[in-house]
Amino acid sequence: MRRGKRQEYDRFRVENLKDTLLFICNRLAEHFGPLHWWPADSPFEVVIGAFLTQNTAWRNVELAIAALKRAVPLTPQAICGLERQRLEELIRPAGFFRQKAQRLQLFSGDLLEHYQGDLDAMLAGPLPQVRRYLLEFKGVGPETADSILLYAAHRPSFVVDAYTRRLLQRYGILQGGESYEQIRTLFMENLPLQTDLFNEYHALIVEQCKTFCRKRPLCDSCPLQPHCAVIL
Ligand code: SF4
Repeated sequence: MRRGKRQEYDRFRVENLKDTLLFICNRLAEHFGPLHWWPADSPFEVVIGAFLTQNTAWRNVELAIAALKRAVPLTPQAICGLERQRLEELIRPAGFFRQKAQRLQLFSGDLLEHYQGDLDAMLAGPLPQVRRYLLEFKGVGPETADSILLYAAHRPSFVVDAYTRRLLQRYGILQGGESYEQIRTLFMENLPLQTDLFNEYHALIVEQCKTFCRKRPLCDSCPLQPHCAVIL
């Protein structure tokens, strides 16, 4: 893209950020249809998935969760009741299994000790406060905390991941180098604070980046053409 045209384009993006973010979401929704995330049978299963999905592909998480489900009910009591080594074996397909087993048991133990295993109670209260509480757990970074808030607690906390960063940068909204919190704030301040919208938007970004906006993008068939700046 030529320099003058790029500057004009950037000005348009900033001035129309709200519209641009909604446009992307609507366009992707038209293309992909409803995605109904997160694939889980219970809010506590979402929590388990949010821990297990760190640094691994979702198909590995599915294998680990299936093994866990065959062994025990997915409850904090059952996770805490497992011998550490047994839990490690069950979640091995998700990688970093020792670390993840320890973190899952720490989280489950806290949930039992302070909330009698009631996840709704743990995740109730003002959103910033609950988010800070989650971020204090070992192994819970902002993406994991926001995934738990959005998909387990159904609270409007936007989830940012590597796909979000890639798409927004290529589209011309991010410059690159923005922090997680800056990108999350961009969504939180420019979109209506609606759980359903955030839920679907994150899922659509993941689908878009797996299908079209891959490492090597398939721009010719992408539903965001011709609006994307295609900054590669
Ligand atoms: S047009 Fe290309 S760079 Fe832009 S979102 Fe689509 S695939 Fe990604």
